[in-house]
Amino acid sequence: MLKVDSIVFSYADKSVLKEVSFELEKGKHLAVMGESGSGKSTLLKAIYGLLHLNSGGISWGNQNVLGPNYNLVPGEKYMKYVAQDFDLMPFTTVSENIAEHLSAFEQETHEARILELLRVIAMEDYAKTKVKSLSGGQQQRVALARALAQEPELLLLDEPFSSIDQFKKNELRYNLFPYLKEKGITVINATHDPNDVLAFADTVLVLQQGKTLALKPTEQLYRNPKNTYVASLFDIVNKLPLHLFMENAAKDEFILAYPHDIHIVKENGFEAYAINTHFKGHYYLAEGLTEDGTTVFFTTKQAVKIHKKILLGVSPVLLKTRKSSS
Ligand code: ADP
Ligand code: MG
Repeated sequence: MLKVDSIVFSYADKSVLKEVSFELEKGKHLAVMGESGSGKSTLLKAIYGLLHLNSGGISWGNQNVLGPNYNLVPGEKYMKYVAQDFDLMPFTTVSENIAEHLSAFEQETHEARILELLRVIAMEDYAKTKVKSLSGGQQQRVALARALAQEPELLLLDEPFSSIDQFKKNELRYNLFPYLKEKGITVINATHDPNDVLAFADTVLVLQQGKTLALKPTEQLYRNPKNTYVASLFDIVNKLPLHLFMENAAKDEFILAYPHDIHIVKENGFEAYAINTHFKGHYYLAEGLTEDGTTVFFTTKQAVKIHKKILLGVSPVLLKTRKSSS
């Protein structure tokens, strides 16, 4: 089990991590989400032992993670860290880059292991290609394969698909994350892409300015985001005054609703004018404007007529569970 216990870290006098704590069991997948600058990369570096903490501690099983003051070579053997900037050997081939990280004991099985890893990164056809002639996204995938070569117990990923085009991203997610589960590798993935999170992460840690804002099982966090910041990590979010639904609601009460929570209804809704409609494939994302000037994003099966007066509503369950004041 990984234990991160109240860690505090600052760069010079800039405080970056403020008492972050969590525990992660072996084989589990934690996503770290948060806006840019919230401390995601710093947290991964701290766990990898690259930073000297101001206070707090990190341990894996019964071993403490020691910082750079103790380790001459950064990083601990049982974990691998794939940084946002990857560092490969440009003049050798993809296979050689991976092989360099396989253990010497595995000599006989090298070929098979390399092939297995090439499959995970969907690059079987590039085994003999020199790394310098690969695109940024392909290099990022080779960096992943290298990290996996030594079968780490704990894998730290920093926006692992950031340079990879949309087209390949999905294939990779569905290759990589199930592979890690199957191998029992514990994962921490820092990302702002909800597609990396919803289907794959067991738990999500949300950072805001270096503080833990939420630490919850993925589905729970998605269904009951604590505030607009959390909800907006997953989708567009509507913060709707509760008085749209209940006449006697207090002025500062709101509900948070994703567009797919709001629909055109025949009764028990609030009035709005349709002002925009966007084709999204299997649904339309539409915008309505209420009398008091609130813009509401909602979804429909068919395109809505612009300027049409409509009634919008949410489920009664949502009204109970999504109250928020921020
Ligand atoms: P994220 O990965 O969530 O975008 P980072 O962990 O990279 O956030 O950065 C958190 C904060 O720490 C930011 O305000 C950033 O400017 C600051 N920071 C990151 N690296 C350094 C550094 N080497 N020196 C000083 N400040 C840094
Ligand atoms: Mg980062």
